[in-house]
Amino acid sequence: MDSDHQKNFLEEIIESDLASGRVKSVVTRFPPEPNGYLHIGHAKSICLNFGLAEKYGGKTNIRFDDTNPTKEDEEYVDSIKEDVKWLGFKWANEFYASDYFDQLYEWAKELIKKGFAYVDDQSQEEIHKGRGTINEPGKESPYRNRSVEENLLLFEEMKEGKYKEGEKVLRAKIDMSSPNMLFRDPLMYRINYTPHHRTGTKWCIYPMYDYAHGESDSIEGITHSICTLEFDVHRPLYNWFIEHLGIFHSHQYEFARLNLTYTLMSKRKLRELVQEKYVSGWDDPRMPTICGIRRKGYTPESIRMFAEKVGVAKRDNIIDISLLEWCVREDLNARSNRYMAVLDPLRVVITNWEEGHGEIFEGPLNPADKEGAKRNVPFSGVIYIDRADFMEEPPKKYFRLKPGGEVRLKYAYIIKCNEVIKDHDGNVIELHCTYDPSSKPGAGEWRSVKGTIHWVSVADCKPVEVRLFDTLFSEPNMDSIPEDKDYKDYLNPESLVVSHAYAEPALLEDKSGIAVQFERVGYFYRDLKAEQEEASDGGNVVGGPVFNRTATLRDNFKAGKK
Ligand code: ATP
Ligand code: MG
Repeated sequence: MDSDHQKNFLEEIIESDLASGRVKSVVTRFPPEPNGYLHIGHAKSICLNFGLAEKYGGKTNIRFDDTNPTKEDEEYVDSIKEDVKWLGFKWANEFYASDYFDQLYEWAKELIKKGFAYVDDQSQEEIHKGRGTINEPGKESPYRNRSVEENLLLFEEMKEGKYKEGEKVLRAKIDMSSPNMLFRDPLMYRINYTPHHRTGTKWCIYPMYDYAHGESDSIEGITHSICTLEFDVHRPLYNWFIEHLGIFHSHQYEFARLNLTYTLMSKRKLRELVQEKYVSGWDDPRMPTICGIRRKGYTPESIRMFAEKVGVAKRDNIIDISLLEWCVREDLNARSNRYMAVLDPLRVVITNWEEGHGEIFEGPLNPADKEGAKRNVPFSGVIYIDRADFMEEPPKKYFRLKPGGEVRLKYAYIIKCNEVIKDHDGNVIELHCTYDPSSKPGAGEWRSVKGTIHWVSVADCKPVEVRLFDTLFSEPNMDSIPEDKDYKDYLNPESLVVSHAYAEPALLEDKSGIAVQFERVGYFYRDLKAEQEEASDGGNVVGGPVFNRTATLRDNFKAGKK
């Protein structure tokens, strides 16, 4: 870790715990519920949990918090593991809360025996009402003072499937007038007959989060159980269960969850976007999911860099999405291969070029690597340049192509614009230029002109489809949307623009496996899945290979400002 890294509060806690001997070595866990795909907020939590253990020579478990069979599925387990691996982390153990169902059941009986838990026959609604409010104490359930024997029998019958869903629950017996609402006899177990993705129909009672989570941490010997801020009110209950069972005491610490502008992190809403087909899937490149961001061309390095820069806050805040973009540019700028592609083509005919003649220029794959590999860039007498690189009536200090002006074609000759060809409506459709043979790179003295533009040779270029992504939502702070408004009304109608471009042929031979830079345009990542989908859709890929725009080159984020 860099020396100017200021210790965050978790690092300080860990260092003091190690120094005082409270813990011998650090054990953390990442505990996703397998009910959806991971998003960039989870990536933050992964980087934090694995990062802390790595830094202090400890270890991290992955634990699937699979205590609700209604919402969970194996598909999600697989995707979560894939995403954690992709981010570059290795877990010490792969555990499931469901591995602990027997132990949790035994401990629940122990709490019943100690008089700390009871079976309640009230309906969900009655229980809810009986809780009271912040200003009003709750009411004790009429079933609260059942004998230990009766509770043990009823709890066993719940387990054996004698009761319907909702007919009975197990509650901890704490304090119905506690100012902490979670202490007002919280639920420990509920009945659910949905088969579980791992335990099948063995169980029909399932532990609630507050009971299962701390006990799972304890079983695994988790020393620092890190979760998001909204769980701070749960901490006393987390401790209560551990202390009343007298088991290994894990400690819970809370940090602010990651929020990003122009997107949202609620799994429920992300699932809705997928199910109602507002996006093409969990891995739609506009989604804040790890698989979506990956498909867009983000690298694991850029996400880890982002997590580091965001830091660990104790107060909720919202991070500007441009910081994430800044990180991917930073990483790709250093190591991506360069190619030229023209997104909005304007045809240029070089009138003094010998017809049928072709030349090959050389361009570095990565300019930062002077000794590095080169690519061949074919040139001929008809090329495309980008429309944005020509202006008929330019302002002063316009250094790209203009009538009578000169410009350098990257890696190739200087050309001069002599004639502008238009259609009947006055639209520019072609430029006639001449090239300067003496301006050939490597031949004689280098003549410089103010502007250099990218181009492709019409005879050699390849058509590609480019998918230009913008933010998924048009509202920066999606948490600020009033309750009575539908968040889907804020979807950005221009979040995806499909365009057709021409690229130099070497692009299609790229073997780097990461996003490439289209010079002067942005970073793009090939989408083989989209190509397969198009192929199976229409039988042939009309637009050619598909490239997703990872990020533009423009950077409106000031590094260091954060
Ligand atoms: P759910 O709404 O389904 O509970 P969740 O986002 O809390 O969703 P979990 O699978 O329970 O999802 O989360 C796994 C871990 O990731 C938890 O420790 C949680 O605190 C953390 N986490 C989830 N969202 C964020 C976020 N936006 N920023 C940081 N950490 C997060
Ligand atoms: Mg959760």
